[in-house]
Amino acid sequence: MTVLDVLIEPDNRLHKISKPVEKITDEIRSFLDDMVETMREHDGAGLAAPQVNRQQRIIVMELPLTPDAQENTVFKMINPEIIKRGDLHCSFKEGCLSVPGERIEVDRIADITVKYLDEFGLEKTLEASEILAVCIQHEIDHLDGKLVLDYLSPFKRKVALTKLKKHYH
Ligand SMILES: [Zn+2]
Repeated sequence: MTVLDVLIEPDNRLHKISKPVEKITDEIRSFLDDMVETMREHDGAGLAAPQVNRQQRIIVMELPLTPDAQENTVFKMINPEIIKRGDLHCSFKEGCLSVPGERIEVDRIADITVKYLDEFGLEKTLEASEILAVCIQHEIDHLDGKLVLDYLSPFKRKVALTKLKKHYH
């Protein structure tokens, strides 16, 4: 397995719309393993393919399946799509490997149902709430070219981008 390079904001490649995966091959499965390795190397809870410069609709996460679960589960999702959204909202201070050093509170839906393909091409649905639901929405945002910084006011966003430019570019 390989640890991949993570793109850091500001970077136009993080703002492209990712394309659906058409065919799930061994290469995709090995890429998923590399993504998990990369996420763990950086102590992240989630990673989306565009963050490692691949504009395809692929995300990985490692989180408890339910808010009271003791152990983490690794999720590998291809072409994820939110098919149901609950009425409740929640927010957490979200970190992002492409926005190091920042934690940004984002208003999200607290309960969602997501449909996706697993690494063998089987269609799955998952009901997720709280942190897992937030993480899925955060990662799907990446596939649509959207980062947590984009939820900030233009002024705060500019301050954060200046800081990132200075320290990481
Ligand atoms: Zn992120």
